[in-house]
Amino acid sequence: MAAPRRTRLAVWKFASCDGCQLQLLSLERELLALLGEVEVASFLEASRAEAPGPYDLSLVEGSITTAHDAARIQHVRRVSKSLVTIGACATAGGIQALRNFADVHEFTAAVYAHPEYIETLATSTPIAHHVRVDFELHGCPINKLQLLEVIRACAQGRRPSIPAHSVCVECKRRGTVCVMVARGTPCLGPVTHAGCGAICPAYDRGCYGCYGPMETPNTASLGAEWRRIGVSKPALRRAYRGVNAFADAFRKAGDADGA
Ligand code: SF4
Ligand code: SF4
Repeated sequence: MAAPRRTRLAVWKFASCDGCQLQLLSLERELLALLGEVEVASFLEASRAEAPGPYDLSLVEGSITTAHDAARIQHVRRVSKSLVTIGACATAGGIQALRNFADVHEFTAAVYAHPEYIETLATSTPIAHHVRVDFELHGCPINKLQLLEVIRACAQGRRPSIPAHSVCVECKRRGTVCVMVARGTPCLGPVTHAGCGAICPAYDRGCYGCYGPMETPNTASLGAEWRRIGVSKPALRRAYRGVNAFADAFRKAGDADGA
């Protein structure tokens, strides 16, 4: 009997730091086991060998910041049966989306000796602003076990089972004392998507929102609580203006609370 056909996987990079692709490599043993079900057809961070499409699953890291990349993502969509975006850059525009709140030409003039050589769009936008996306995996960087679940789910033709609740649930599960309630430390955990394992509160710090907005974030309520513990509106806006600044819920909350 012929062996079942393996899922053909391609990994693509746009504007990003490569940290999310590295999470795939850091799967190590799990990745070797996965090779029975998945053929890594194109993954330039791991190998120069590149098999042509079409692909069953494309993992896309990074945001769209150039006209060239805006055209390239259309090609990726055309050759991909399923397209999954991985990380804050791909799902929310990343830290580079801070340009969306300012004038990109001021930045290039300040940073580069010859800004006239820089070809860039005025904005950094998530992949979903350009093409249909089948699933978004949040995080900066993403959780490698959640990535494994996404790849397995695609190979098995089902929807990935990724929790949509907030970091607070993870915090409670590991038995961490709430830093906001106990010490008045500002924390974005109540509005942030789970996935990191609530690392920061476990080290006595508030959550920075690396995993982006949870499914139904109550940012108005969190804003009221932050003000109650003495955080100014501009400070709250700065908190939202991190790697997920351009995610809808965080952008709106930052605009509303920073005025
Ligand atoms: S989401 Fe974070 S870790 Fe992933 S590519 Fe962007 S900056 Fe790097
Ligand atoms: S420390 Fe932050 S994430 Fe943990 S329970 Fe308190 S508010 Fe939620």
